[in-house]
Amino acid sequence: MKIISILGSTGSIGVNTLDVIARNPTRFKVVALAAGRNLPLLKRQIDTFGPGIVSVIDDEHAHQLNEMLGHSATVKILSGEGGYREVASWKKVEMVVSAIAGAAGLSPTIAAIDAGKDIALANKETMVMAGELVVERAASHGVNIIPVDSEHNAIFQCLAGHNRKEVKRLILTASGGPFLHLPPKQFAYIKLEDALRHPNWEMGRKITIDSASMMNKALEVIEAGWLFGMDVGSIDVCIHPQSIVHSMVEYVDGSVIAQMGVPDMRGPISYALSYPERLQGAVDTLDLCRVGTLEFMSPDCAKFPALKLAYEAAGKGGSAPAVLNASNEVAVAAFIEDKIGFGDIPLVIKEVLDSHQTREIGSIKDVLEADGWGRIKAGEIVEKRKIS
Ligand code: MG
Repeated sequence: MKIISILGSTGSIGVNTLDVIARNPTRFKVVALAAGRNLPLLKRQIDTFGPGIVSVIDDEHAHQLNEMLGHSATVKILSGEGGYREVASWKKVEMVVSAIAGAAGLSPTIAAIDAGKDIALANKETMVMAGELVVERAASHGVNIIPVDSEHNAIFQCLAGHNRKEVKRLILTASGGPFLHLPPKQFAYIKLEDALRHPNWEMGRKITIDSASMMNKALEVIEAGWLFGMDVGSIDVCIHPQSIVHSMVEYVDGSVIAQMGVPDMRGPISYALSYPERLQGAVDTLDLCRVGTLEFMSPDCAKFPALKLAYEAAGKGGSAPAVLNASNEVAVAAFIEDKIGFGDIPLVIKEVLDSHQTREIGSIKDVLEADGWGRIKAGEIVEKRKIS
């Protein structure tokens, strides 16, 4: 029985993780949950799974949850970053599913690593912001990081049983998102609801917008570099609209190993939770004859500048990827609030990166400073570009 804690239990990854756990009650037990503001869903999760500890975004929500649960509840209710860190390091837990979206996931993930918990990593921002520190810290605590992100989980599977020294190239697949075939001139008219309509994957808002701009893939390139110890120059992106091939590894002899499956996040989640074993019937059977055609094409970097920005930021190293991530979070939030257009998102990020003096990163404090700087700068640029 593996004892599990979930950071981000009411988000898309959290809900799918609980579904996997519910279907495998003899293998997994969840004892700790961290959520944000979705109290009705968190209450249902508490009633169903009976965790010993939960944490929510702030004191006010903790108070409301307490009222909702009534006095007979035995669950310990915490709040804020301290609460998240406690959920991440809760004594009996063996594996922490890190699925809080954005930079907010960094601190609790670090707490889990420091407490020696294995990590099922869905929060890519942790690796983008602080990859080098996270990898070092995980190694020194003997912690395994198993990727949940479908592409990285695929690469993890394609690497199993092979000699890492014989890897030539990682190939991340990307669906291309809803605007793959939209002419660039139309980008100015993209509405929030258009960007939220992803063709293949059901995901949270932030990651769905990131998929539409291809920033999600951009962040994934940086994430893959740290997770697999590869230079980003040896990581390519390939558009594959069917999302059946979840990513590939090319070896020195020209062999390419691909991992395939139906697009269902319960696949990579199941593999991460049960690794090195596989769960019976984790997702539906893939019928390639019914799928019929698999297409692959190069990404259009002129239409989707995010990819180029990520390679640039990764090349600069140090604080640049954290600044890239921070400015993206601010720009996406501004787009959601209708302050800037969809096409402005990469322009804001580029302007922030161009005005950033790259610094070395020696500690989490340095990472958070770079993140803070990026947010302020991006906020200023958003104000200048604001649609009146
Ligand atoms: Mg992904």
